Order: sequence, then C-alpha cells, then structure tokens
Amino acid sequence: MDDVSPAGRGRRTGAWCAAAATALSCTVTGGAITAGAAAARAGEAPARPPGWCRPDGALTARAMPQKIRLSECDLRGRVVRGENGLAATVPSDGTSVTAHSLRTDGASELRVEVDEAKGEITLTSTGTRVPQGRPREFRAPMDACQDDAYQQEPSRWPKGSTIEWHYYPGTAGLPMSGVSTGVSNMFNARTDCNAAHAFAPPPDVSEKYAGQTTTSPNLTAGGVCGDRDGTNVSGWESMPGAEANVLAATCTWFRGATTIESDTALQTQGKKWWPGPQDGSSCPAGSYDAAAVTTHETGHMLGLGHVEGSQHSGLTMAPTVAACDDDPATLGRGDYAGLIALYGARSSSA
Ligand SMILES: [Zn+2]
Repeated sequence: MDDVSPAGRGRRTGAWCAAAATALSCTVTGGAITAGAAAARAGEAPARPPGWCRPDGALTARAMPQKIRLSECDLRGRVVRGENGLAATVPSDGTSVTAHSLRTDGASELRVEVDEAKGEITLTSTGTRVPQGRPREFRAPMDACQDDAYQQEPSRWPKGSTIEWHYYPGTAGLPMSGVSTGVSNMFNARTDCNAAHAFAPPPDVSEKYAGQTTTSPNLTAGGVCGDRDGTNVSGWESMPGAEANVLAATCTWFRGATTIESDTALQTQGKKWWPGPQDGSSCPAGSYDAAAVTTHETGHMLGLGHVEGSQHSGLTMAPTVAACDDDPATLGRGDYAGLIALYGARSSSA
C-alpha cells in the first residue's frame, strides 16, 4: 500500500481518505498507512499468520522478513530454505544454527538465530556463485601467506576447550584419512608458509578423535541441517536430495555466542573424492580433495566464515574449491589470524 498522495504522506486526514475511496487504509486517520496496520484494525478476530508463513512444506528465507516474531509465525521445528538450496531445521531447543554448504560453483550460508526470551528469530542468508570467466571486479589473488583477511561467525567454542569428534564412515567405502587430516590441519594451523609446516603458537582449542560412530552427521538426505544430537560428527554421507553441486555441508549449533555442536557431511552421492596427498597418491581427474574440503569445513566448525572476493581466493576460507585443488588443506595467514582472533594462542605448557 504505497501512499499515492504526496501531500498526504504521514499527515493523512479523513477528508483525503474519503477522496481516495479505493485505499484499503481509509479507516486510518493518521500516521503511516500499511496493510499490516489495516489488518490489525480489522482484526478483532485472532491474528492470521502472514502469507509467507505457510503451514506446511519448507519456508523460503527470501520471501520472509529478516526478523520474525514467534507470535506471528512460530518457525521452530520448520525447515527454512536459504540461497542455492541450502536449508536448516529451526531448532526447538533454544539453540541457533548456522548452515554452510560448499559447492563446486561457490558456497552458501544460512543462519537462524533463535532468541526465545525476545520471542524473535533472525534469518541471515547469503550465497556466492562463481561466474563463468572473470567477473568484472576480478582482482588477482594475494599470496595466501601474506593475505591476513578473515571473517568470524557469531559463535565459537569456549577458549581452551578440547572438542571431541566422531568419524562417520558412511556406506561408500571412502577412506578416513582425508577427513582426519582436514580436521587436524585446521585445529593445528598447518601451513606451507613456513618450514615448520604449522603456524605458531597454535590457537587455544584442541580436537580429540573419539572414534567411529554409526550415527550419521545431523544432516538429512536433502543436505538439510536437522535436529542436533549432542555429538560432533564429521564424515561421509549420501545426500541424494541435495542440489547437484553440493560437495559438503556443515551445521553448527550455538547458544548465545557459544558453539555447542557441529557436524560436517561430505557428499558421496555423485561426487568423486581423493583423500589428499598425505597418502602418497595422485588425484584422479575430476575428484575433490577430502582433506582440503574438510579443512575448510572445520574452519566453519571453529567459527570462521567465508572471505569473499577473488583477491582472497588463496585462503582456506575462500568459498571455492576446484577439483584436485589441495591448497585449502593448509592454512593461509588470514585463516590463522582468524583462529587466533577467536581463541587466542595455546600456551606451550598446556
Ligand atoms: Zn564454506
């Protein structure tokens, strides 16, 4: 309901309304006229949910306001879809969730922040697609050992914590080595930027491998972040319902600014994988490096976001990975700087 009368903007009178007989908002005699206000006036009956709050099926973040009051549409337990098919189940346990997917053609992020005390949910959805050829704003990549760019997510694990994670082998017969190498590379800030092959001091957060599990990461067959189960799991999952370009996805649940669980799934359906160079093998054409992808995903687990822009494409947290690209398996300067900003430095006596 746009204001069609410049003279009436914000100072609408009953007389003006009488003239504009078709205006829905004629009963309002002052202030801004909106369909919502009109509905509120009309509504002695219980408030109907807004049109985007469909009772079943997935809801689309793009068609919804960024801030949603639980009283107008209670999203808890519902699936919300962000960019490029990425989706998450809105937690019902008071936690919030961030979903990331890494694709062969870019990446997406969807964040669902649940504030039950305020009765409010905030949706943030972003997507990156790699254009064919050089984008107009293309800038030559910086040397990853010089590039200090990083992005932080709104939550992190407590400083000094040791995060237990389980490996889920899936059913495709793929090896564990790429996954465990990737987790270790991010936690221990492995790099090719110095002779020690690790940045020092390491960030003050540690990983502990807690064994295999028969429970898959909490992602559905559609690659949707589901309900969390209290266990951090990384591994292989067949996600036949995910979009075809999805390589991996990570779901991270948090309360306030504290991360409490994170799961990573590498897509086995329709994707070829290479464990990475740590086994001494070479990359079969068209395969993706499981160590490189897991290192990137573990960055999300720890609270790093994507660094956008072609000049940062040498960093592990750039939202792109090419087939047989093993560079993201080792950190650049900005990836390390981000970990230190989140966790501080681990003391050598620890
Ligand atoms: Zn990512």
